[in-house]
Amino acid sequence: MAEHLGMTHCGPCPSCQEDSWQHIVDGRLRWEWQYCCPVSGTQACGGGWGPAPDEVREEIVAREGTVRLAVGGPDGVPLAALRKLMHLSLPQLRQARAEGFAATPTEAALLRGV
Ligand SMILES: [Zn+2]
Repeated sequence: MAEHLGMTHCGPCPSCQEDSWQHIVDGRLRWEWQYCCPVSGTQACGGGWGPAPDEVREEIVAREGTVRLAVGGPDGVPLAALRKLMHLSLPQLRQARAEGFAATPTEAALLRGV
């Protein structure tokens, strides 16, 4: 079985390539993840709407950094928009209201547009 060949490749090797990114499609946030390894011939990909899963987002943040957005008030991102688009919990919203929200550049572009 072909799957058994993959068993020898249990961790990332120097040829492994992993890429993740966010983009805005029709005004909605979307994330994509892609993995391939020419050595083991493994390929995988994933993606979804809304905020990226933590491990994907952490990688994007590590590469692109974050932009601190003001939340609430006349110039800030509306709390309702932040809750809807980024799925923040109430404690997270309170923190964002007090300290600003650390958005990825793509999230910032979306949140600034609301
Ligand atoms: Zn590999």
